[in-house]
Amino acid sequence: MTVQIEVRPEGRTKNTQENYSINVEAAIHRAFANKEVWDRSDYIGASEIAGCPLKIYYDKTEPTDFKGNGKTERGHAIEVALIQLLKQGGMDIRYHAGHINHQKEFRHPDYPVAVHPDGIVYQRSKPFAVLEVKSVGSEYFRKITEPLHSWVVQTRFNAYMAGLPKALLVVVNASDLEDVKWWEFEAMSEVEAKGYLEKAKKIMAAIELGAEPFAEPSEERCKWCEHKTKCANVWIPDKE
Ligand code: SF4
Repeated sequence: MTVQIEVRPEGRTKNTQENYSINVEAAIHRAFANKEVWDRSDYIGASEIAGCPLKIYYDKTEPTDFKGNGKTERGHAIEVALIQLLKQGGMDIRYHAGHINHQKEFRHPDYPVAVHPDGIVYQRSKPFAVLEVKSVGSEYFRKITEPLHSWVVQTRFNAYMAGLPKALLVVVNASDLEDVKWWEFEAMSEVEAKGYLEKAKKIMAAIELGAEPFAEPSEERCKWCEHKTKCANVWIPDKE
């Protein structure tokens, strides 16, 4: 099977185009084997930090049997496979799932926060940026003109935690791996990151006390929340 990937920096200007002939099935199968799973019971991760505090509370105190449906598992594997393809295209990516040194963990010394960027991008043999990869279905992929707020927060927060200046977000069409959209951001500033660190501290304190924190419902957050059937704060669209 021939897979064509166009890499377009910042989602706009085509920079390089590489064609790869790979066995996608084999790449995804290998990626499944290399997927890394983190136990987030005693810290808040970057993928959670922009989320609803009540959802994070439920995730850690009343976990459901939901361990990721088939689509999510496949999505993780596709993301790992995409990193391999980006490397074949010339990007120097290290510390990713399947890399000999695995993903890097960055723990904050004073807050209950730890992050695991999908990879670290090197330029001229020096770490330069964190990499975050997302896979989405083709219909949603076509609609995306701007990345989700939570993705941007996660990626920029990862860069802050890693002490790197840049954050790269790559979104891939999971249906065929034929196209990607790409954005580059600055790392989160100290002031901005402090707000998220304090949020994490409050949520972990609420968990320790057994007191539900406030909810922050939104269409984006509640749509995919596995706790929405029991949640009294679930986002309801205006009926005007
Ligand atoms: S349904 Fe919405 S408001 Fe309720 S916990 Fe989930 S994300 Fe938060």
